[in-house]
Amino acid sequence: MGLLETRELTVRYGGLAANLDIDLVVEPGMLVGLIGPNGAGKTTFIDAITGFTSVSSGTIIFDGTELNGVAPDRRAHLGLSRTFQSLELFEDLSVRDNLLVAAEKPKWYAFMLDLLRVRKGDSASSVDAALSALGLEGIADTLPSDLSHGQRKLVGVARALAARPKLLLLDEPAAGLDTAESQLLGAHLRSFLTTGTTIFLIDHDMGLVLNVCDYIYVLDFGQIIAKGTPNEIRKDPAVITAYLGQSAGEAQAREGADLAAAREAHHE
Ligand code: ATP
Repeated sequence: MGLLETRELTVRYGGLAANLDIDLVVEPGMLVGLIGPNGAGKTTFIDAITGFTSVSSGTIIFDGTELNGVAPDRRAHLGLSRTFQSLELFEDLSVRDNLLVAAEKPKWYAFMLDLLRVRKGDSASSVDAALSALGLEGIADTLPSDLSHGQRKLVGVARALAARPKLLLLDEPAAGLDTAESQLLGAHLRSFLTTGTTIFLIDHDMGLVLNVCDYIYVLDFGQIIAKGTPNEIRKDPAVITAYLGQSAGEAQAREGADLAAAREAHHE
């Protein structure tokens, strides 16, 4: 059974089916991508999984629990963590404190953890682990306003990671990054998998998605039109017609040897 499974997931906004009958599986330990043109329904899908939009019909099962009707904070406690396209960092807090806010559990939950004798200092150690996973240790005490756009995006990913999710859902983490920054992000994402985090990635950067994902779903007008490994997706005529077009060749040309090697290493 997958860590995340949706069955006939449908989200309607008035007369528009932003997601229609989506059957999707994310296996544990995998990096699964979701691509599609602007307005295809990708963010709506993450919103539905994390409880930020209501589901019209269908089922979401996460880690054996049916999520329909479950509040977003409860879903977070179950192990779902996401980033948002509009990256909101707390500007008055250092990078480290931005992560600490995400890593801290609400008081009632901390009380239960105490009852269960969970080690204190877990939050600090998960913050340190997230900073280190993204190579941000050197800017831990910096304010977000002093960071580059690329660094801010990485802090957003680190903040979601600091909550120690079972499934990390990333909504366009590479938007605005240059090619080198995007490749570095891809290498970081691959390394998260080795720590037991499963990743679901939406991005328009085809070089990133095709290089780092184990499996990819393609969405068009709210429906899945293709699914497969990056190699299968590259060759899929429906995908090329609907979405990739010219950029499929460009993405292949941009493939970074280092990231390809990282993916191969993961499968060994
Ligand atoms: P992009 O790549 O541009 O971020 P996307 O694939 O993430 O797009 P969504 O943002 O999920 O697409 O939007 C899917 C469709 O649903 C679009 O037609 C959008 O206009 C519509 N939509 C999204 N959110 C709402 C909402 N809250 N109310 C009404 N319509 C919405």
